This record gives sequence, C-alpha cells and structure tokens, in this order.
Amino acid sequence: MRFDVITLFPELFEPFFKSGITRRAFESRQVDVRLWNPRDHAQGNYRRVDDRPFGGGPGMVMMAEPLWRCLQAIRVDRAEPELACAPVVLFSPIGQKLDHAMATAWSESAGAVLLCGRYEGIDQRFIDACVDRQVSLGDFVLSGGEIAAIALLDSVARLMPGVLSDEGSHQQDSFNPALSGLLDSPHHTRPEVWEGPDGPVGVPAALLGGHHERIGRYRRDQSLTLSQALRPELVDQARAAGQLSKADETFLRTLKKL
Ligand code: SAH
Repeated sequence: MRFDVITLFPELFEPFFKSGITRRAFESRQVDVRLWNPRDHAQGNYRRVDDRPFGGGPGMVMMAEPLWRCLQAIRVDRAEPELACAPVVLFSPIGQKLDHAMATAWSESAGAVLLCGRYEGIDQRFIDACVDRQVSLGDFVLSGGEIAAIALLDSVARLMPGVLSDEGSHQQDSFNPALSGLLDSPHHTRPEVWEGPDGPVGVPAALLGGHHERIGRYRRDQSLTLSQALRPELVDQARAAGQLSKADETFLRTLKKL
C-alpha cells in the first residue's frame, strides 16, 4: 500500500517513521509513505504556497496551483490508470472522525494521497476539484494536518499483518472485532505487589496462576464493565451484532444491579 503525503513540513514525519513498533512497516515499505512538499512545485523566486484571503480576515490560505502541480507529480509518480486514481484525503475539522473502522478500511486499501492543510486552510476551489474525502481527528483545531496524517498512518501500520511482534496482539485492542468492538481490559505487569503512594497494591488474583479460561473470563468481564460504564453504545452495538454470549449477558445483568 502506498500513501503520498502532501505537507509543507515533511521533517515532522521522519522521526515517526524511525521509532517504535510501526518502524518496520515503514522501513520495509509494507506501508510505503512518500512525502511531497508543495513548495517544490510552487512558481517564482519566492516559491510562494500561501496568500491572503479574498474578502479579508486574518491568516493566510494555501494556494490551489502549487497543490495542483504537486498532485499531478504524484499521479505521474504513482503511474496510475486514470480511472483507478488513489483517493485524495484532506485532513480537516469538518471531516469524518477517524475511528477503528476507518483505520481498518485504509489498512485493507491500496493507499491514498493525504493532504495536510496549514494556516487558515486550503483554497476551496482545489478542495472542490481534487479532494475526495475529508477526515478529522476530533472536535478541536490543530495548526496543521500533519498530526492527523501521522495518526492515520500509525493506526493503519499497526493493523498490518506482522507489524506487531506478537501476531494478532492488535486484535486484543479496543474497538477490534475480536473484542466484539468493546474497550480493552486493564493491563498489569511485574512486580506482583507494587509499593504505591497509597501502600502496597496487588495484581487482580484472576490474572495469577495461569488459568487461561479464568483469565479470559476476567478480561472479558473487565471489558464489559468498562464499556458499559464509559461507552454503553459499544455494548449495544455488540449485542445487536450478536457478539454477546450468554455468559456476557449474565455478567452485564450483575453490573446493572450494582
Ligand atoms: N480554519 C480552519 C482550521 C485551519 S487549521 C477551521 O476553522 O476549520 C489548519 C489545518 O490544520 C487545516 O487545514 C487542517 O488540515 C488541519 N487541522 C486542523 N484541525 C484538524 C482536525 N481536527 N482534524 C484534522 N485536521 C485538522
């Protein structure tokens, strides 16, 4: 899969590709990311990429022409047939919120062109002509689309087969179908008793002793407890999808009595 990222700040991406568990996805080009700076496609001595907004107001707006030239260069480089062009995704607060379903869909795709806005945003004429989808990281405003692009690339990379060292460990993550779309259960590691600020704290007894079935049931109950308390709609969705067992429903009934 190949992602071409249009950004005025390509240097923001480099450390991210070299760090952590997803590094091998990027270094092996399993997730092939190419960075493109619209400034390299701007004209004139100043290689201008932004200008003042028509109608006045604060800030600057990214110009359509350098973006259009940059996009054409990407299309040539990708050597795509005209009717099978990779979609252009613009990061924007008005977009559809990034979630697990979207990350999964992108992880099964051939990739996309990711466009990171800066300043006040992008000339609407370019958006109308060239952008296929808009994606938001949430209801807040970032200074640029780069963090949103990195969030998308990271969430996609960890879903790729073989990227997480423990095969299938992403399936144990929140929202994954293997967890019925519920929230993940809490994690504990050594020491067995931690001398915390409020005194010694042990690990839940169910996790000790290596009884797999008991551990599985305990974790499932924790997932159900957290999801019911924090995200009840995830429990409703799991139920509607036939993902809750009799044991799950019995446990949920005990929760409601509390
Ligand atoms: N004037 C715009 C915000 C511009 S912020 C508005 O009020 O909606 C500059 C750039 O940051 C945007 O073009 C977009 O690419 C990116 N950005 C800002 N907030 C974002 C968010 N919540 N999700 C994704 N990208 C965002």
